[in-house]
Amino acid sequence: MRYLVTGGAGFIGSHLTDALVARGDEVLVLDDLSTGRIDNLKGALATGAVELVEGSILDRDLVDSCTASADVCLHLAAAVGVQLILEQPLDSLLRNVRGSDVVISSMVERGGKVLVASSSEIYGKNGDVLLSEDSDRILGPTSTSRWAYSMAKGFSEFLAKAYTSERDADTVVFRFFNTVGPRQTGSYGMVMPRFVQQALAGAPLTVYGDGTQRRCFTHVRDVTEAVLRLCDEAAATGKTFNIGSPHEITIGDLAHKVIERTGSDSEVIMVPYDEAYAEGFEEIGCRHPDLSLIRRVTGWSPRLTIDEMIDDVIAYSVATAPAAVPVDAKEVA
Ligand code: UDP
Repeated sequence: MRYLVTGGAGFIGSHLTDALVARGDEVLVLDDLSTGRIDNLKGALATGAVELVEGSILDRDLVDSCTASADVCLHLAAAVGVQLILEQPLDSLLRNVRGSDVVISSMVERGGKVLVASSSEIYGKNGDVLLSEDSDRILGPTSTSRWAYSMAKGFSEFLAKAYTSERDADTVVFRFFNTVGPRQTGSYGMVMPRFVQQALAGAPLTVYGDGTQRRCFTHVRDVTEAVLRLCDEAAATGKTFNIGSPHEITIGDLAHKVIERTGSDSEVIMVPYDEAYAEGFEEIGCRHPDLSLIRRVTGWSPRLTIDEMIDDVIAYSVATAPAAVPVDAKEVA
């Protein structure tokens, strides 16, 4: 099979590319290298089974030339990270709305299968203990920029669904919940690589708010396995799936665990949200996925523990230093 992976040089996209190549598939990666890095694809490119096209998903002619030779498209290219969305709202919206329109429409029009990456951000501030795929989306006002990301992801999901219901297209949507692991960068706000880099540098770990907010982290290796199962499962067509872990941890506890596992003597400091984020931020207390649908359809459950996730991120940060460890003190703090 020949797969088109948009955003294939990014964190999750590059792991998916590696996994596809490992099982004998060919991959065409389309990436504008804005947040993705060629380095993430070093191993995959060396196999000769991967072709990298550097360009934008906003370029319809380029996207058409990529979808023309692909059997399946994994659409992951997006502006991601709360910090990036708040700091560059216009560019993020255009890439996430227009870009998704171009990629999904192009692939469907040539009759191929499309899997669309969405996010737990879809649920907004719904505080239900268990978020199932049919849970309500509770978004704040348009004056709060954070909700633009949820709106953009919602657009992609509705578009994929409409192509399936009205044009019989083969589409699948999945929603990632706090995926972590090697190759994730802390430059756009993601907490795990930031804490690990801060701990390794002996800098204070910056817990935003009071640290009682909870998240369920999932190792990118488990996430990759989930996406591949959805690629191969005919019964997944037209459906939407949560991909995440059922194990919650508070951000305060995560900071202490990272300190323990790095053996760092860093301290933990609390940073008020208005100092941490640009205007337009609103915190989410908890995001906990109901995973029964993906388990039922594919048999998938995550296996790796939070300790294994932290250890893998530490090993990656150490192995890639100084390239992955920010030298800019502002970025560390
Ligand atoms: N966070 C933090 N310190 C940081 C970066 C993030 O305390 O240096 C917090 C952030 O406010 C949120 C949680 O960690 O409560 C997860 O943030 P991330 O951006 O990784 O994911 P999301 O907010 O999308 O769940």
